[in-house]
Amino acid sequence: MSPQPLKLRRTPVRTCVTCRKTEGKRALHRFVRTAAGIEFDPGGKKAGRGAYLCAEIDCWRTALQRNLLARALQCEITAEDVQRMETHMKKLVPGAPAIS
Ligand SMILES: [Zn+2]
Repeated sequence: MSPQPLKLRRTPVRTCVTCRKTEGKRALHRFVRTAAGIEFDPGGKKAGRGAYLCAEIDCWRTALQRNLLARALQCEITAEDVQRMETHMKKLVPGAPAIS
């Protein structure tokens, strides 16, 4: 197999805040900072500063433990935000693409 040349891709690439893995936007779960706190943004359409997590449940756990989303978004994460994230976390299927 011959190596594929590196191509400039138009697909926007995002980085998981925990493992720093880069993926196309659709493969990562987006969180957005709103006036009400951190919101899960499954469609990736909400306006505001966003941060991304990949589909690895360990990344979600680490992000919660180390407050990585709050740091990436430069805001406080509330107990409610954590609860919401835990709800989404339970729906994660390892290896499956992000909800779109
Ligand atoms: Zn990750």
